[in-house]
Amino acid sequence: MVDVISAGTIGLDDIETPFGKAKDTLGGSGVYSSYAASFFATPGLVSIAGEDFPKKYIDELRKRGISLEGVEIKGKNFRWEGSYEFDMNEAKTLKTELNSLIEFNPELPDSFKNAKYVFLANVDPEIQLKVIDQVDSPELIVMDTMNFWISQKKKKLEEVMKRSDVIIMNDAEARQFFNTVNLVKAANSALEFAKKAVIIKKGEHGALLFVKENGKIKHFNAPGYPLEVVKDPTGCGDSFGGGFIGYLAKTKNLSDASLRKAVVYGSVIASFNAEDFSLERLRKLTMPEIEKRFNEMKEIREF
Ligand code: AMP
Repeated sequence: MVDVISAGTIGLDDIETPFGKAKDTLGGSGVYSSYAASFFATPGLVSIAGEDFPKKYIDELRKRGISLEGVEIKGKNFRWEGSYEFDMNEAKTLKTELNSLIEFNPELPDSFKNAKYVFLANVDPEIQLKVIDQVDSPELIVMDTMNFWISQKKKKLEEVMKRSDVIIMNDAEARQFFNTVNLVKAANSALEFAKKAVIIKKGEHGALLFVKENGKIKHFNAPGYPLEVVKDPTGCGDSFGGGFIGYLAKTKNLSDASLRKAVVYGSVIASFNAEDFSLERLRKLTMPEIEKRFNEMKEIREF
């Protein structure tokens, strides 16, 4: 039985960073987030892949224990082309080909409908809404998005935000959405939508967590892990989200303290993801490595 469902893209990415290039490589918000969640829980992916999507990747995801019952195969695959300059915090989108995603009408298999943890990875907000509508009694809905959807479908995104418990955005998206340079103001505005918490990711500089608890707002600031090797940050946001919800699904504890730990586990998995292209580093990643870096993160922020 799946305990987390993740709805997002299955992508074929072309990436260029100062450290190399990758072509037609495995990516997509649904792929990264479900892969990251699989370190803690059994994920089910809701997405669409094209007929040109290599079968070896389908086999790999299945072997990893990710249920693909919610994946449709049709038409041409979603493709994204991005590049990074020396400031690797921001991806420059060179091309987005939605292809089969345009007609994707998600239908959740019965085995996904009673999942308690739902991750709406970065995808068309209309797809995100259709997924929420089909889950019977979710305990936690976490949503993510990106500038592409903020520019194109802001009103629909607002609907998704109002139905979510946790909103995740990166700093640039939060500034764009709430039209302010101040991240605390942006987070407070986002908290008017989210039922429980808002997370603002700041790339290599960590993440901010704002939690509503007993009428008060509690604030937590997770550090970024000081990485010496960063080759490709693609998928870090999605790995963060997948690790975050995966940890919560495992512990079934939604207290402020548990959300803080989930933010750190999410950051740890995202930091590993940046060390190599595509899912290369996550493929080799082990639980002892995750625990070791989690403990280092504790030491980093102690004073
Ligand atoms: P991240 O670096 O975590 O923000 O996500 C990168 C992944 O998002 C890439 O693997 C892309 O395939 C995917 N992606 C890029 N643009 C979009 C979009 N507009 N909607 C959904 N997924 C996207």
